[in-house]
Amino acid sequence: MSNTKTHAFQTEISQLLDLMINSLYSQKEIFLRELISNSSDAIDKRRFEALTDASLLNDDEELAVTITTDKDAGTLTVSDNGIGMTHDEVIDNIGTIARSGTKKFMEALEASKKEDDNVSLIGQFGVGFYSVFMVADKVTLNTRKAGTNTAIQWESDGKGEFTIGETEKDSAGTSITLHLREDDKEFLEDFRLKHIIHTYSEHISLPIKMLGSVPLDDEGNPQEGVEAELETVNTGTALWARAKNEISDEEYQSFYQGLSYDMEPPLSTLHHKVEGNMEYTSLLFIPKKAPFDMWNRDNKKGIKLYVRRVFIMDDAEHLMPNYLRFVKGVIDSQDLPLNVSREILQGDRDIQKIKASSVKRVLDELKRLASKEADSYQSFWTEFGQVIKEGVVEDMANKDKITPLLRFASTNNDSDEQTVSLEDYTARMSDDQDAIYYITADSYKAAKGSPHLEMFTKKGIEVLLLSDPVDEWLVNSLPEFNEKPLKSVSKGDLELSDDEKKEQEEQKEALSPVTEKLQEVLADVVKEVRLTSRLTESPACLVADENDPGANLERIMKAMGQDAPSTKPILELNPEHALIKQLNADSDTFEDWAQVLFDQAALSEGAQIKDPANYVKLVNKLLVTN
Ligand code: ADP
Repeated sequence: MSNTKTHAFQTEISQLLDLMINSLYSQKEIFLRELISNSSDAIDKRRFEALTDASLLNDDEELAVTITTDKDAGTLTVSDNGIGMTHDEVIDNIGTIARSGTKKFMEALEASKKEDDNVSLIGQFGVGFYSVFMVADKVTLNTRKAGTNTAIQWESDGKGEFTIGETEKDSAGTSITLHLREDDKEFLEDFRLKHIIHTYSEHISLPIKMLGSVPLDDEGNPQEGVEAELETVNTGTALWARAKNEISDEEYQSFYQGLSYDMEPPLSTLHHKVEGNMEYTSLLFIPKKAPFDMWNRDNKKGIKLYVRRVFIMDDAEHLMPNYLRFVKGVIDSQDLPLNVSREILQGDRDIQKIKASSVKRVLDELKRLASKEADSYQSFWTEFGQVIKEGVVEDMANKDKITPLLRFASTNNDSDEQTVSLEDYTARMSDDQDAIYYITADSYKAAKGSPHLEMFTKKGIEVLLLSDPVDEWLVNSLPEFNEKPLKSVSKGDLELSDDEKKEQEEQKEALSPVTEKLQEVLADVVKEVRLTSRLTESPACLVADENDPGANLERIMKAMGQDAPSTKPILELNPEHALIKQLNADSDTFEDWAQVLFDQAALSEGAQIKDPANYVKLVNKLLVTN
C-alpha cells in the first residue's frame, strides 16, 4: 500500500461492531450472504452504468462473484467484477455510517431478545458489510472503480480503526479477504461454503463461482499439473423467469427471504407471466409480518424493476403505491428500454399499466384471503391494517376494492381487535337506521368510554370505534358505503322523533336561564350551549359542529406540527342529569360549575384540559360547599 492513512471509525460503528461480535454469535454464516449480496449489487450497478458508457464493460469478461480460500493462510476471499469504489466512496460507504438507520438499528438490536430477529435486522438496516467481523479478526478490501486506474486498499481489525491507501489491482471490481478467527475456520471448507450459498444465495441472478476439485488419476490422487477450475455453485437463473409449475414452495420462500430478510414464509406468493402487447413477469409477495421500517416513508425498496433480467432499480414508488409498500417482489419487463430512467418511468404508460395490474393482483388476493382464510386475513389486518387504510385516501381508483377490506373495532365486540367490516355492520343495521355511525378518538379506550356513545348504547345502535390516526382521513374520504352515509356520533345534531322533539322543547324552555348564562360564562371556549338527548349517564359532552374538523383531528394535526384551525366545540347538556337539574343561574358558584362541566366534558372524551390544577381546585371547592 502507498499513501496509507489511518482513520478512526465513527463511534456508532465501533459500538455496532462490538454488538455484532458479542451478540450475534449464532448464524454467523450470514456474513457470506451479505458479501454476495453487496457483490451482486455492485455487478448490477456496473451493468447498468455500462448501458450509457459501454467502455465500462469488457465483452470477454463474465460478470460473476468468485469465492476462494487459502487454508494455509486461513483466509477466505470474496471477489466480484462489479462497479468497484473510489477512495472517497470507500471512506463514505465503509467506515463512516452517515446512515440514520444505524442508531435505530442498534436500539432495535439491543431491545431484541430473539436471535432470529437480529439476523433479519442486519439486512433491513443495511449494515451488512460489518458482519464480516463476526468471523474475521482482520479484513482486507481491495477495490478498483470501473473506468479508473487507481486501486484502493482498506484494512481493519474491526477494533476502532482502519487504514486506507493505494494499491495495485488488475481489473475493476472489489475483492474482500477475511482473515478468519481461530474458531471460525469452518468457513474454509468448500462443502460448508456451498451449503451457505445454496441456503441464502441460490437465486442471485449471477453465477457464484468456487474452485472445483482437481480430477483424480488412476490411483485416486489429484492429477499433477492440472489446476482446479472455477465452477458455478448456484443455479444463477432468475427464479421468476422459470415456469411456475417447476418452482417449489421452498424455492419461492428462499427467494422471498433473499429479498426481504424476513425469517417467516410469505403470506401469499403471486407469480404471473403476462404476454401479448406488453410482456412482463411479476413475482410479488405479501409478507406475514410488518418490517421494522414500515413507517419510514423514505424507504421505498419493496419492488425491484428488471428489464430483460437486467436489474434496473429498486423503486416501489412507480410500481406499487405507498399504501402497499410492504409488498415485496420483482417485476421484469420485456419491452422497456434498458436505459429507462426514473423520469421516464414516471410518465410511462406501460409502467402505469403494470402498476395498475399489480395493485389489482394484490387487492384481489387480499379479498380472497378475507373471504376464504379469515384467520390469516385477520392477522394480516393486525399487521398492515393501518397502511391499507391509507389506500382509501390515496387510491381513489381502487376505493371500491379497498373499502370491503377494511376492519374496525366496534361497540358490538368487547375487544379492541379490528374485526368488523362495513359489510358486517350494514348487515346488522335495523331498517330504520339510516347511517353508519362511528366515533374517532386517540385511543380505543377513549372511544369506547366516550359519553357520545351513551344514547347509541341505550338504543342498541352499533358504533364503529376508530382510534388510528389515519382514521380521521379515512372517514373524510369515505362519505358512504353501500349508499349508507358514515356519520360521526360526536358531530352535528341528532335526529329525534316527534315525541322526543316536543319533550326537548319543554326542557329547553325550563332550562333556558341556565343555558343562556352558561353560554355567557363560557363564551371564549364554546360556540354554543344546547340540550341533547345524546347522553344518558353523563351531565355534558362536547360536540363539533357538522362542518368542523372535530377535536380528535385537531389534536392529531397539532401533534404532527401542523396548524389546525382551532374551532370551538358545542357544549351539550343532558337535561335529565341531576347535576344539570340542580344548576342555578343565580347562584354564587355558577361560574365554578360552568368551568367544571366544561372541563369534565373535555376529559371524558380523552382530551387534555387547559388548567388541570384549577380544575382540581374548583372540584374540591364544590365538594366542600355542597
Ligand atoms: P448495504 O449493502 O445495505 O448498503 P453494506 O454495509 O453492506 O450496506 O455496504 C455499504 C456500502 O458499501 C454499499 O451500499 C456499497 O455502496 C458499498 N459496497 C459494499 N460492498 C461493495 C462491493 N463489493 N462493491 C462495491 N461497493 C460495495
